[in-house]
Amino acid sequence: MAKAQKPRQKHVPIRTCIACRQTQGKRQLVRIVRTPTGEVRIDPTGKQAGRGAYLCRMRDCWEQALSSQRLAGALKTTLTPETLAALKAYVATLPVADQDEEPSQ
Ligand SMILES: [Zn+2]
Repeated sequence: MAKAQKPRQKHVPIRTCIACRQTQGKRQLVRIVRTPTGEVRIDPTGKQAGRGAYLCRMRDCWEQALSSQRLAGALKTTLTPETLAALKAYVATLPVADQDEEPSQ
């Protein structure tokens, strides 16, 4: 009897975008964390301790999450004007829609 090949099981954590509800691999999403000290910040490493929420790297999702207070709700906190400003500055760096595959020069 032939030995069955073991499927390589890679553990890919799946997370849900709090705005559009699409599930994606954790690395495709941006994590926002509320730290134990109550600070809300973007967590590029995904390892910061605290309560986290995930959003697509899509401006639409961020704008929706910020304007509808969904982010604040997901983090069970309120966003200070400073935090909102910092998040909005980050949003400005995100693509508006699907990323175009433009050849970078
Ligand atoms: Zn989304």
